[in-house]
Amino acid sequence: MELDDLYQEIILDHYKQPKNQGIVEDADITVDGRNPFCGDEIKVTLKFKNDVVDDIKFTGSGCAISQASASVMTENIKGKNTTEVKQLFQEFAEMVKGDCDDHDHPHIDDTCELAAFQGVAAFPTRVKCAMLAWNAMREGIERELNKKGK
Ligand code: ZN
Repeated sequence: MELDDLYQEIILDHYKQPKNQGIVEDADITVDGRNPFCGDEIKVTLKFKNDVVDDIKFTGSGCAISQASASVMTENIKGKNTTEVKQLFQEFAEMVKGDCDDHDHPHIDDTCELAAFQGVAAFPTRVKCAMLAWNAMREGIERELNKKGK
């Protein structure tokens, strides 16, 4: 199997059977994201335990890349603290924008499902799809940290 096929399969799997779909009860953060270029919509809810993401879920509709990206994101964010989340955000953003080579995202190796989205870099119009859930999540975390005065 070609690597590209494998990546495509990961994206389609998450699109058809998304992980962590729904709404977190008593969420600390609720953020809505829209990508008018593609018609993608996403709602991210997130709950902290101290500085760690205790639970994160999403609902939404739109293209396979936007929904699969949200699904893989929730799996990779859960259990991480805000510093780790920001680091992963940075690496993922650089990867899908093609602003780096393989060695610039040490937390996203080939065994990580996030790597499935590196092909997006070849399609600039799809970067917004891949980043939609991430941008919403990041915005929510920034808002929460500001509230706490960190
Ligand atoms: Zn899209």
